[in-house]
Amino acid sequence: MSLQGRVALVTGGSRGIGAAVAQTLAAAGVSLAVCARNGEAAAATAAAIAERGGQAFGVAADVSRAADAERVVAACVERFGRLDILVNNAGITRDGLVLRMKDEDWSDVLAVNLSGAFYCARAALRAILKQRQSGRIVNVGSVVGSTGNPGQANYVASKAGLVGLTKALAKEVASRGVTVNAVAPGFIETDMTAGLADAVKDAYRTQIPLGRFGTPAEVASVVAFLASDAAAYITGQVIHVNGGMWSS
Ligand code: NAP
Repeated sequence: MSLQGRVALVTGGSRGIGAAVAQTLAAAGVSLAVCARNGEAAAATAAAIAERGGQAFGVAADVSRAADAERVVAACVERFGRLDILVNNAGITRDGLVLRMKDEDWSDVLAVNLSGAFYCARAALRAILKQRQSGRIVNVGSVVGSTGNPGQANYVASKAGLVGLTKALAKEVASRGVTVNAVAPGFIETDMTAGLADAVKDAYRTQIPLGRFGTPAEVASVVAFLASDAAAYITGQVIHVNGGMWSS
């Protein structure tokens, strides 16, 4: 996998899957901008990377705001002179049954998980397309975008929408050497799943042939592969990383 010298922006890189993606890319020689709403937490990921000899900086940004997406891409280009890889990882849940779901629980999840990816992709592509014939966008979806999940209509709709965005964008930018793919994790051990009741976690585990939740690093390695030259002929695809719980 050739990634040495590339520049990446990882959204939601302060913890969980995004932090693991940032660390994995940095270990492969990528210089990074890491963003999250909590700028100090994003800076902490960057500091940990710098301690290991990598190059990274953290930025406070809310990807649901188009202006923030533009600002973080501009900061990346200003610092490193270019942008090669965007990882749209920032995501939130606001679970509830549709009949009781508040308007803002619907719109907040769509705004971060889907509109955020659109804003960042649009801003990043303006930078990427000015460069050589190469670039990578990797969107972090979810297995539930394919399977559905009760109590998560907002989240499922956002992740299914992200698949559509991935496929449409892949066709728009393929002629410019830019690939656009999605990684769809199953259940991964992060803050997002930490709040699940033990009984719920046990029930989910019974649906996973590998018998356990995945780790952020196990998702990050697939993101890094898709970001690398080794994946140059893969675009418009959704790669499932879910311990075997579902296959397309
Ligand atoms: P997490 O631990 O809750 O981390 C989410 C990250 O996104 C944090 O860095 C958070 O930082 C950032 N974020 C949230 N809203 C943001 C916004 N508006 N703008 C910028 N950054 C924002 O979640 P995770 O489990 O690592 O999930 C990462 C991605 O994987 C998400 O897209 C999630 O849907 C997906 N996923 C996770 C699982 C799982 O089982 N964990 C399964 C399938 C898919 P701030 O709060 O400071 O903004």
